[in-house]
Amino acid sequence: MDLLVVGSIGFDSIETPHGKTEKQLGGTAVFCSVAASYFTKVGMVATVGSDFPEHHVDFLKSKNVDLTGLTKLDGETFHWGARYHHNMNRRDTLFTHLNVFEQFSPEIPQAYRDTPFLFLGNIAPSLQMHVLDQMTAPKIVALDTMNFWIEGTPDDLAKVLRKTKVLLVNDEEAAQLTGEGNQLKAAKAINKMGPEIVIIKKGEHGAAMIHDNEYFYAPAFPLDQVSDPTGAGDTFAGGFMGYLAKASRIDKGTLRRAMVFGSAMASFAVENFSVERLRHLVSDEIDQRFDAFHEMVSFERE
Ligand code: AMP
Repeated sequence: MDLLVVGSIGFDSIETPHGKTEKQLGGTAVFCSVAASYFTKVGMVATVGSDFPEHHVDFLKSKNVDLTGLTKLDGETFHWGARYHHNMNRRDTLFTHLNVFEQFSPEIPQAYRDTPFLFLGNIAPSLQMHVLDQMTAPKIVALDTMNFWIEGTPDDLAKVLRKTKVLLVNDEEAAQLTGEGNQLKAAKAINKMGPEIVIIKKGEHGAAMIHDNEYFYAPAFPLDQVSDPTGAGDTFAGGFMGYLAKASRIDKGTLRRAMVFGSAMASFAVENFSVERLRHLVSDEIDQRFDAFHEMVSFERE
């Protein structure tokens, strides 16, 4: 196993200007592991309820996601509902039924504990810490978090950040975490909290990586229709971490390519609802999109 992903798995009910779905497969761990599975061997630690359909499990297995760490508890599966505005950078959460996710206490199977790459999806920082406590010595820990934890449990978050190498946040979260509206200043402040590599996600405006006093920018791929932005951030993280785990190193060139693979994977995820676009995605399409990114941002000096 090269990459371990810990996070939510469940049902999403989503409404966007382009359609509406009910109880489709979702969750941070799902988007991230499916995206990463195109690059590396991934294992997932998450929990579902007794109502979770076997065909979703079969789908994850078809992507070679190792499910030793997937537990089934008595009760209903996590269910999240959201509605996107006409401007799809904005959404309202309609409901969050935590259900069995409320009892989630990530127990890392023995066989996963020495996994070198670890992605801690957006869950309570105390649970993220609980995962870290069980790992032998992960080489790269990447972490996602959100305003809820930044405001609610700042001390727990500070502890996890000290052990984190890569922080992925959106621009608002970076500002909230540091009190700095300027992204470079925010990134410097985050460096002091622990993470050396700061990735600031900007939705349809791409993502920036600030590392070693250098700024790298990966645009979002221009699409004529974004059907459902749900999971874009986690899919980005999956492409990013999956590629790093495959390369097994973190030099500048590898990190920059990882950013572009992250952006490429996210661009596929948003083309359709749930994981529908990722379901039948093939590696050639990823390579073609990677080349299209290269073309999009390259120019010659006069
Ligand atoms: P994103 O669009 O990257 O924010 O991720 C959306 C995914 O996060 C959806 O598939 C949801 O199922 C999942 N999600 C939403 N709220 C929560 C929560 N409170 N805890 C864990 N996962 C969540």
